[in-house]
Amino acid sequence: MPRKILVTSALPYANGSIHLGHLVEYIQTDIWVRFQKMRGHQCIYCCADDTHGTPIMLRAEKEGITPEQLIDRVWHEHKRDFDGFQVEFDNYYSTNSVETRHYADTIYTRLKEAGLIEIRSIEQYYDPVKEMFLPDRFIKGECPKCHAKDQYGDNCEACGAAYQPTDLIEPYSAVSGAKPVRKSSDHHFFRLSDTRCADFLEGWIQPPHVQTEAANKLNEWLHAGLSDWDISRDAPYFGFEIPDAPGKYYYVWLDAPIGYMGSFQNYCDKNGLDFDEYWKPDSEAELYHFIGKDILYFHALFWPAELAHAGFRTPTGVFCHGFLTVNGTKMSKSRGTFITAESYLNHLNPSFLRYYYAAKLNGSMEDIDLNLEDFAARVNSDLVGKYVNIASRCAGFITKKFAGKLGAIDAAATAEFLTVFENGEIAKSYEDRDYGRALREIMRLADVANQYIAEKQPWAMAKQEGREAELHEVCSTAMTLFRDLTLYLKPVLPKLAEQVEAFLNIPPLAWTDTWAALPAGHAINEYQHLMTRIDPKKIEIMVEENRQSLAPTPAFANTPAPARHAEHQQNEAKAEAAASDEKSAWEPFISIDDFTQVDLRIVRIAHAEHVEGADKLLKLTLDLGGETRTVFAGIKVAYAPETLIGRLTVMVANLSPRKMKFGLSEGMVLAAGDERGGPFLLSPDSGAQPGMRIK
Ligand SMILES: [Zn+2]
Repeated sequence: MPRKILVTSALPYANGSIHLGHLVEYIQTDIWVRFQKMRGHQCIYCCADDTHGTPIMLRAEKEGITPEQLIDRVWHEHKRDFDGFQVEFDNYYSTNSVETRHYADTIYTRLKEAGLIEIRSIEQYYDPVKEMFLPDRFIKGECPKCHAKDQYGDNCEACGAAYQPTDLIEPYSAVSGAKPVRKSSDHHFFRLSDTRCADFLEGWIQPPHVQTEAANKLNEWLHAGLSDWDISRDAPYFGFEIPDAPGKYYYVWLDAPIGYMGSFQNYCDKNGLDFDEYWKPDSEAELYHFIGKDILYFHALFWPAELAHAGFRTPTGVFCHGFLTVNGTKMSKSRGTFITAESYLNHLNPSFLRYYYAAKLNGSMEDIDLNLEDFAARVNSDLVGKYVNIASRCAGFITKKFAGKLGAIDAAATAEFLTVFENGEIAKSYEDRDYGRALREIMRLADVANQYIAEKQPWAMAKQEGREAELHEVCSTAMTLFRDLTLYLKPVLPKLAEQVEAFLNIPPLAWTDTWAALPAGHAINEYQHLMTRIDPKKIEIMVEENRQSLAPTPAFANTPAPARHAEHQQNEAKAEAAASDEKSAWEPFISIDDFTQVDLRIVRIAHAEHVEGADKLLKLTLDLGGETRTVFAGIKVAYAPETLIGRLTVMVANLSPRKMKFGLSEGMVLAAGDERGGPFLLSPDSGAQPGMRIK
């Protein structure tokens, strides 16, 4: 029986570019959807841009355009990037739509009728110049804990402390620079703390609705007690005004996810489907949301509770995944690993990334790492070395020697493929989103095929008289095996599969119930090169292109890029959410406590001399105001010893002494330098005395 399945990915915010971190989710979802379609199910993939909110409003204002113009431009950029990576939505829409507004109003009204909406007055920071309430990310000030300046209103990037914006010392508006004032305003809340919600969720948050690891986390949150959710914001705001509350707008929770419904309604209208058949409470259709772990709380607590009490069905499953790291750490603009989709596509084949992500994904919430060296090695070895190799070694003989027509098949050589087809393990792995397992099995089969070819040596047969029939059989068998591998890889590599279908002259590959070899007499087309190896140079160029030099932070940064992300998270488990970074040249950050562990002191260089046999070192005798230390410093290239005697500089006084070839070094002097020159020894301002601590 064909299943009816509706699938979504989280809605990207219309305030920035799609990058490789986003693509973990879209590629993952796309593979699953394509697999379901190949199985003959009706599977519909809907998504949209998340378009509302303060960051969009302010950015449009800064660019001198309307928010509608901004979101339209970004929609086209996003769509271009998704197309480029072969992510094939059945509908890619916008939350700024009549359909989304309709369902937002419907849900709001029904929740209100159920007594689950409450109005409360809350006090917030207000920008008196800009005349608007300020989201946490738009308030900056001094960290109450470590006293770092210019920190955001929700957490400190220097020491990692989380706090309320009201805790900031000397707060200022990041929009206007004005000192914000406290002002109260009525906000609408969804009463997630109502016992009806907790009772419903108690039964709902378990497999298969969520993964086991997610269920554990959600139960912790549930039993710690759920709090009510603020679902409104005051004008000025770009979004939908709440019908019975002029000047109040639905905040993200009450319009972004409803964009799933809006996009699907739009799809139904275009394709003559019945929306209710998928969204009524007793619907037999399946509904799955693919999400990142940063929005788990929202999608597996708030969202199902909201749907259940507004008369809609709840999700069949919420599939939660981890974040992307590149070369083992967070994506970083300064390291060039914050790679945009657009820039990747300028240099590399999208199939490579689809394959690599798939190989790493296993249906769990673990982070996945894009190790760029491993990426090139794996793609080259698996796709080019194993898979494409089968066709490129055998297809030419069919064309040249047998007029492009296939012959009989060597049944013994296909036995392993037949077994795998019948045990259904590859299909099961795809269904479970354990793509890594599926690909390992597929590559094992590719090894079986390559081994067969290596044993038979068709290139040797081709040179020997009287072995034509054998050669024909080996190459025809290889084509059938190649067809099978292509079928298995098709959810991951749809464009490549299309090329192979054209080359093999066969209809689009589908996951049928029976296995069949390509028939004798079937004509294939001439083999065209399918894929070239990744040139590591291209990866280097791409990384270089994405590397951004770090400009000093402007005092009043208008629209901090991670703003929306942080806003989304303010009610969630922050520790879980490693947002992509902005200032990574300085990371990992250390705490003030870490810093104070380093004992830096002013010292006078009492004596300096050359070291016999050392090209770079000078031996310094340092006066710490009573105590003296011997330090070997690699500064000979820049300083003659006699010029140093008597001057003040800075040393690390509590560095463990180190035994060197020339003697014991009892500390380190500090100097600056890079390719522009140096080393340059540090000097304190006048007045500093030997032994003074630097803090
Ligand atoms: Zn701090």
